[in-house]
Amino acid sequence: MHPGLIVLCVILAILAALVIVVLVRTARAKSPAPKKRLPPSRNKEEQEALARDFARLIQIPTPSHEDGRTDDLEPFARLQAEVDALFPKVRENLEKVTIEGVLIYHWRGKHPEKKPILLMGHQDVVPADPKGWTYPPYGGEIHDGILYGRGTMDDKCNIFCQLRAVEDLLSQGFLPDTDVWFAYSDNEESSGGGAQKAVDWFRAHGITSFALAWDEGGAVVDKAMAGMDRPYAVVGITEKGYVDLKITARGAGGHSSTPKRDTTMTRLAAFVTDVNEHNPFERKFTPHVRAMFTNMAPSFPFGLRLLFSNLWLFEGLLTKLMPKISSQAGALLGTTCAFTMAKGSDAANVIPSEAYVIANLRPGFTQNAKESVAALQKVADRYQLELTVLKSRDASPVTSTEGTAYQYLVSCIRRRFPDCGVSPYVMTGCTDNRHYATMSDQCLRFYPVRLTDQQLSCMHGDNECISIDALSDAADFYEDFLKNYVGA
Ligand SMILES: [Zn+2]
Repeated sequence: MHPGLIVLCVILAILAALVIVVLVRTARAKSPAPKKRLPPSRNKEEQEALARDFARLIQIPTPSHEDGRTDDLEPFARLQAEVDALFPKVRENLEKVTIEGVLIYHWRGKHPEKKPILLMGHQDVVPADPKGWTYPPYGGEIHDGILYGRGTMDDKCNIFCQLRAVEDLLSQGFLPDTDVWFAYSDNEESSGGGAQKAVDWFRAHGITSFALAWDEGGAVVDKAMAGMDRPYAVVGITEKGYVDLKITARGAGGHSSTPKRDTTMTRLAAFVTDVNEHNPFERKFTPHVRAMFTNMAPSFPFGLRLLFSNLWLFEGLLTKLMPKISSQAGALLGTTCAFTMAKGSDAANVIPSEAYVIANLRPGFTQNAKESVAALQKVADRYQLELTVLKSRDASPVTSTEGTAYQYLVSCIRRRFPDCGVSPYVMTGCTDNRHYATMSDQCLRFYPVRLTDQQLSCMHGDNECISIDALSDAADFYEDFLKNYVGA
């Protein structure tokens, strides 16, 4: 046989073997048909009654406030009075602490010697402009089984459902196994210090460690990705970092009637375009991002399943493709940079001698905050720009999916949402949970709430809403979680 033919045969044999391995792995990755959804524990009237109770919290607007502005705390006092009225047994049986707008509850368990757990939420909401809303944002109106209003998801549903579960358990005479704490901050949405005040209070009172710190985060999403064969409960095990940068250009200013080609504005514009077109940050699959996709791969449609169940072969290709297909998927692979503000001169006919843009980076797990800034600095140097760090923090530590709290939460999800898949998840946004990184090695971020993609996209936008059956399921979830939790 001709030597060239032998080489060709060998190459074809290798390719055939590769195709077989890829197809076998894809076929093996297919998960069994999902189980049936649990029947609702409340009928429609009972679900509506529950939602009407919850609406009382939605009808009190609690816009997020800056730290130190105690004059903005009146709405929080009203909200807390309403919570007292809604949950009389919580008021009688749990110890309550307030630190300015922050609200903390302590539910004593049978075993104070065991590590306590912490359930979290935030009372504040982002602003709502009624113009874009179909129903008034603070009306708390129910239409076709959906409760509309700012805070229905983010994040009053967590506070309401947690306390509702406690109220029901108290009615049953239930006592938790360990101490349970609840901490509800008042300015999560403005990245304020409410959560830190709670952390400081815990430390000052000798509570230095929680077996679990559980906050808002991923939800039970209808279609976590297009074409998935079942809803997925995604549990945030970490969140990305946060950096604000000011990038300043200096140069000769002057009259705009005789412009030079190189001005402060043109250099800034060239820099922004450069960063936008040639991503200066590293992108790769870190172990937890790999775990997330490997976990979900069985539920993907065939093409995606083939790619994600064979990451050993396609990881390089996917690292390049994912940011082009989806900004959300791309954000999981590394640091992102968004230009959010800009300032030139004060007049339309004056070339500024100083101009700046503000960039917001979300450092991932391939480069920390400092390394991400250094990567951007390299580009800025090419355009003689100065870079100033205004705010900077790294990503949160990654919670191990082998940990007891993660495993327990997953077991509750499998019990209460048997029709759903479960996966760890990397949060690209921020939560109060990051403040507890030094107090717990099991920091988890999860809403036990079923959401459609559309509801998910309304979270900080117009027409934020929650289905009344999802609200009922969430209250049941917390009840189940608290009832069966056994501390170590
Ligand atoms: Zn939130």
